[in-house]
Amino acid sequence: MRILLVEDETALSDALAEILTQNNYTVDVVHRGPEGLDYASSDIYDMILLDIMLPGMDGLTILRSLRQKGISTPVILLTAKSEVPDIITGLDAGSDDYLAKPFSTGELLARMRALSRRGSNYTGEILSFHDLTFNKGSMELGCNGSTIRLGLKEAQLIELLLKNTGQVMPKNLLIEKIWGIDSDTEYNNIEVYISFLRQKLNFLDASVQIKTIRGVGYQLEAYV
Ligand code: CA
Repeated sequence: MRILLVEDETALSDALAEILTQNNYTVDVVHRGPEGLDYASSDIYDMILLDIMLPGMDGLTILRSLRQKGISTPVILLTAKSEVPDIITGLDAGSDDYLAKPFSTGELLARMRALSRRGSNYTGEILSFHDLTFNKGSMELGCNGSTIRLGLKEAQLIELLLKNTGQVMPKNLLIEKIWGIDSDTEYNNIEVYISFLRQKLNFLDASVQIKTIRGVGYQLEAYV
């Protein structure tokens, strides 16, 4: 899951980014309101952690602007106790949850899990396509009773491909979702992970393959 953290207190944002990374989230951090709105508007995030008091533009303005644009990414507002009256406004503006600072990281992680479970695009722990299954919890790819465990990047790639069967996933979109907007990952890096996945599909003898659409990206395809 790709998370955008918009928080101007750098001690807090550094600590949160580290904890989220340790918990297998991919995190982009920005410290100013306008950047927060720009990044969030890219609509590549699975969840946004949004501070209210921010330089340049406050979190509630960002939230309203996102919802007006039709961006429905789940948002957890991070708020100082003194801003609690703003929370009511925040919920009206389209926030999904809030946490008053200081909060425990355990509570934040639990709220994030709860929110992702009830998210509109939640598709369950098992994704499938033809004879292929992928268990998001255990990161296991399965076919005909055999399973194989994937690495984190492979798991993120196959999850995106399985959630978007029937369409070509552009290479640059996959890179943004997995490595981040500011990443300098070369395109041939994603090709390495695609080739790992292909080897595993081959090993499982799956009837599903990853098709390369030259100059565009990748698509899952079943051959019968
Ligand atoms: Ca702040």
